[in-house]
Amino acid sequence: MEFYNTLTKKKEVFKPLAENKVKIYVCGPTVYNFIHLGNARPMCVFDVLRRYLIYREFKVTFVQNFTDIDDKIIAKANENGVTCEKIADLYKKEYKKDAHGLNVDDADIHPTATGDIFNMVEFVSKLMDKGYAYKTDSGDVYFRTGKFARYGNLSGQSPENLQAGARVAIDDEQKEDPCDFVLWKSSKPGEPWWPSPWGNGRPGWHLECSTMIKHHLGIMIDIHCGGQDLTFPHHENEIAQSECCNGRKLANYWLHNGFVNINHEKMSKSLNNFFTVREIAEKFGYEPIRYLMISAHYRTPINYSEEVMSNCKSALSRLYNCKEKLDLAVDFASKIKSPANKNSAKESLAKENLLKHRAAFIKVMDDDLNTAGALAVLFDLVRDVNSEILSEFKYSKEILVFSKELLKEFSGVLGILSSDKKSRTLSKKAEILVKQREEARKNKDFRKSDELRNKLLEMGVILQDTSDGVVLKFSDD
Ligand SMILES: [Zn+2]
Repeated sequence: MEFYNTLTKKKEVFKPLAENKVKIYVCGPTVYNFIHLGNARPMCVFDVLRRYLIYREFKVTFVQNFTDIDDKIIAKANENGVTCEKIADLYKKEYKKDAHGLNVDDADIHPTATGDIFNMVEFVSKLMDKGYAYKTDSGDVYFRTGKFARYGNLSGQSPENLQAGARVAIDDEQKEDPCDFVLWKSSKPGEPWWPSPWGNGRPGWHLECSTMIKHHLGIMIDIHCGGQDLTFPHHENEIAQSECCNGRKLANYWLHNGFVNINHEKMSKSLNNFFTVREIAEKFGYEPIRYLMISAHYRTPINYSEEVMSNCKSALSRLYNCKEKLDLAVDFASKIKSPANKNSAKESLAKENLLKHRAAFIKVMDDDLNTAGALAVLFDLVRDVNSEILSEFKYSKEILVFSKELLKEFSGVLGILSSDKKSRTLSKKAEILVKQREEARKNKDFRKSDELRNKLLEMGVILQDTSDGVVLKFSDD
């Protein structure tokens, strides 16, 4: 299994720190609003990463934080005349609704920044003791980037470049170096605060992630994930703080997902093309959004448009259609008749061909989590099931069940076809009619047999008489 590692800028074979165990951290949302379409991408692709690792029999611990104290939350709370806690709680709930809709599994641990303040203070104290942090006259504590030689490695920037960029955006005259970033912010009137050795204040955003990783996963983790926009400064700063505080590497693999564009333009409020996941879900449903998010390789940009969403919807219906036909065929084989001889050469060949899809699925997913390739394999499977397994009806129940399980296996890793729709089964009434018709045929009562066949046709059950007996037939679609 290989992943493209932003840290080394190349694809690397994945080796976990402990055999068969994987520790993953994903930067979570700042809970001050509904999540936007761009937020759905890391949620979906790193959920696939987790599902795939579990599929490959790794024991995964997946941590995603909630940033529940931040300038934006404070601003929203003031706007609405409520506490920051109330805003954070509300949007945490809304986040979970969207995550559930997108079929994103709950993280094993979902820590909040405010739940870990004590550990953050301890973390900063350690950096102070080691000389990696300093307090300014205004009571803020900064990280001393000049002391960390590898600063800029993740985002591939030289110290000169970083300084030039930081000078433009200089936010505090009291910093020693324009690149230094805040670890602890002194409290301003009306803001929530916590006590610390440097006065009352609150943690800086970057510090929150570093501390939560250390507290909930340990000093070193296997994979750190997030959106490409977080590479700099957020992840660069996480590395600097953690590695200076702990004296160890923070994460072995850094995975970053690409952007979501809207009609080939960058999504932004000023361009008036800013959509929340909720808005899009109300229009198209959640599942097509998930499908869109995994339809391209996670590192490449994807494009959203109404047309693209319709295509995602039709792709999903093709998959659901095959799933429903398999459900019905398995049910028919259980209740009425299972065709074919289990040991025939044709059966073995069919199974062998189905297994080739599994090998193909693993091959593409092992190649840096190529979900686009995995969807192609899923459609290859569906094509073969439709054109061979379901059209011929020479296969045993075992092969039908195996096809159904394989479809479930691949779609389960990708997190699609999860709709709660009941699987299609032969109704009791249809079952009785089919059996009556078999009886009529045996008695050579062809008039009655035809009558019953037409009744079944009205119910959507198409029968075909073969030398081997009656089988279920699906119309071409
Ligand atoms: Zn983070």
